[in-house]
Amino acid sequence: MKLICIGRNYTDHIKELENEKPADPVVFLKPDTAILLKKQPFFIPDFSDDVHHEVEILVKIKKVGKYIDRKFAPKYYDEIGLGIDFTARDLQSQLKAKGLPWEKAKAFDGAAVIGKWLPKTKFEDIDNINFSLKRNDEIVQSGNTALMLWKIDELIEYVSKYFTLKIGDIIFTGTPAGVGKVFVDDQLKGYIEDEELFSIKIK
Ligand code: ZN
Repeated sequence: MKLICIGRNYTDHIKELENEKPADPVVFLKPDTAILLKKQPFFIPDFSDDVHHEVEILVKIKKVGKYIDRKFAPKYYDEIGLGIDFTARDLQSQLKAKGLPWEKAKAFDGAAVIGKWLPKTKFEDIDNINFSLKRNDEIVQSGNTALMLWKIDELIEYVSKYFTLKIGDIIFTGTPAGVGKVFVDDQLKGYIEDEELFSIKIK
């Protein structure tokens, strides 16, 4: 399986990193080895001094598809989740400056947190889901899927033009404002509405 990640999908996060609003979504992949194993802490890798948390809504693909029209996209997922796209920001900035790919900064082992899954039927409107991240019991990021530049079904349409979606693939839909550095001994907890979906210790 693969993790398909979207960058710059929230206006406020774009402002924060001083990026221009793109004409198309930014897309990158993480391999399955990037998934942080259940109940494991996240170890800050020795090649970075500035690993950031990016909390993101996740969508799990349940059906093989290619060139999926957005109006059929809901047939391709039943579950919504929450995760973290850990990013070695210092390394990413160096790579960006040289016009090089981001993989080393985004796709390293443990860089993808995947929390508990919720049935999409739990939500009245997939484009109106509140989510947040607490760092040591203080809310550092909060967002709502209504604020996405490209909504979930549009993302499925877009990414499936390039990549065949397979059963079990996961889409990371981008992060809202408030990304920030993590430190040893931090505890990160992710929520959709009031439900805790993951709790990660930083080491
Ligand atoms: Zn991200």
